[in-house]
Amino acid sequence: MKRTKRSAARRAVALSPNALVVLKKRYLKKGPKGEPVETPEELFRRVAKAIAEADAVYGATEREVAETTELFYDLMASLDFLPNSPTLMNAGTELGQLSACFVLPVGDSLEEIFEAVKYAAKIHQSGGGTGFSFSRLRPEGDVVKSTNGVASGPVSFMTVFDSATDTIKQGGRRRGANMGILRVDHPDIEKFITCKHDNDRLTNFNISVALTDAFMRAVENDEDYDLINPRTGARVKALSARKVFHSIVQSAWKNGEPGVIFLDAINRHNPTPHVGSIESTNPCGEQPLLPYESCNLGSINLLHMVQDGAVNYERLKDVVWHAVHFLDNVIDVNKYPLPSIRDMTLANRKIGLGIMGFADMLMALGIPYNSEEAVAMAEEVMGFIQRESKEASAELAKKRGNFPNFKGSIYDPDAGGAWPYMRNATTTTIAPTGTISILAGCSSGVEPVFAITFVRKVLDGEELLEVHPLFQKVARERKFFSENLMKKIATRGSLQAFSEIPEDVRRVFVTAHDISPEWHIRIQAAFQKYTDNAVSKTINFPNSATPEDIEKAYFQAFKSGCKGLTVYRDGSRDMQVLNIQKKA
Ligand code: ADP
Repeated sequence: MKRTKRSAARRAVALSPNALVVLKKRYLKKGPKGEPVETPEELFRRVAKAIAEADAVYGATEREVAETTELFYDLMASLDFLPNSPTLMNAGTELGQLSACFVLPVGDSLEEIFEAVKYAAKIHQSGGGTGFSFSRLRPEGDVVKSTNGVASGPVSFMTVFDSATDTIKQGGRRRGANMGILRVDHPDIEKFITCKHDNDRLTNFNISVALTDAFMRAVENDEDYDLINPRTGARVKALSARKVFHSIVQSAWKNGEPGVIFLDAINRHNPTPHVGSIESTNPCGEQPLLPYESCNLGSINLLHMVQDGAVNYERLKDVVWHAVHFLDNVIDVNKYPLPSIRDMTLANRKIGLGIMGFADMLMALGIPYNSEEAVAMAEEVMGFIQRESKEASAELAKKRGNFPNFKGSIYDPDAGGAWPYMRNATTTTIAPTGTISILAGCSSGVEPVFAITFVRKVLDGEELLEVHPLFQKVARERKFFSENLMKKIATRGSLQAFSEIPEDVRRVFVTAHDISPEWHIRIQAAFQKYTDNAVSKTINFPNSATPEDIEKAYFQAFKSGCKGLTVYRDGSRDMQVLNIQKKA
């Protein structure tokens, strides 16, 4: 492993007031009366020490482990890189569960269903999110031999998972989150598509329909397609593909759900097809996993990689290599909620390195998010991270061994692959970074910013005007800054209506609603091209968008190699489940 020494100085952490509030509320270790018993520096030290410990398993001396601890501390304390929330909360504590993402199988028997409920509860308690495919459950009204009764079907069982999630509050830190998936050829698909129309139902679930290539072709050709009973394998009936597609589109137009995942695209990129096929993702969709698999994520703050108006690739490379080392170590010190999850996770050793602060980086470079230059930058920067993360993982494998399922994987030269060494079955994922981007003080994931200036309500009812720091700098340099203008912008969020702001500045400082769905998807596709797992992204539509606009977006995403799509039409719903939970 390459070990460029980063600054070994014990740096203090430069956190924003908002980040401090979030840390205190959710992350710092608490005493018996709920008071924080560690400082932010102590938090990062606790995590660095626990994660560096894994090096000892591979023969590192005490001194080398101490060196790695310093490296990891600096990686996080600089806010250049942060691991997913469970790692920050639980590393070095008794709980010790460090992964954000899990997928559990749901078998077609009462016993298996309630086993999955129990496992999910355990995972939620430890801060993780769970994804399930309900596609194996027999449809509503099907026979149940043991009781001579009739089956209640996937949607009805989902409510059991939903209530169980409600009662587990993750130690007061955050509520649990689930992804519910159903294949488009399941007989209950029509019921599933509309199962969240009543806003009070299934509030702990994001739902997605798993679309197949055959289904998309049937939509294009306006053909019928078969619904199959998973219990018998028999064809139940045929439906018009267009009719079902329109119902998905209509529902997503109405309230943003269901999302869709492109199941065949996901499985074409399954790194271990010999182990099993992928049927579900984690709650926010960025991490497809095999049943019983878990994955830990971590994200690089791209804003920090900009220096003198350009990306400092040497620095980025350094951070990528250390981050891969960090995330691989997490797998070894992680305390898994179940033996089957431990076995599957250790056999594939998937990690998900991604980014945050992409929109901020573009602003710092003077590139509009909705431009060819931004698409090129997305490909360049993620292409770089993808290549370097693979090199870093291969280098680790030379010392620590390949991941146990390597034989027969897409890397194995004997199976047509091109990598004789690989430590991790996947290395890259783009997470939403809902909370860790607040800690790092940058824009979240690969999303554009929502407002250039806005009013933040603070605890005692006071209101605070926040201006995007890069915009503030430009406004002062270009001499159009005024308190009054900033307040006026806050009423709209977007700059586009303000002719007193120079046109080139308005062009660079665009917000999510200034950007057309086509550009949102082009950026998602650009990142997907260089990401092993998937990309968390919301495609924003104006309130005036039509169902046809959404339909077009699905096809654009499908044809450009995206693994799924989440749309949101402005004003169609108060807020998404996870967003509400993530508000500090
Ligand atoms: P963070 O910024 O807190 O590290 P992200 O917003 O990047 O987390 O989300 C990453 C993943 O973490 C999600 O896809 C999901 O699997 C899990 N996750 C996020 N929020 C929750 C939650 N409230 N409960 C359970 N899991 C969650």
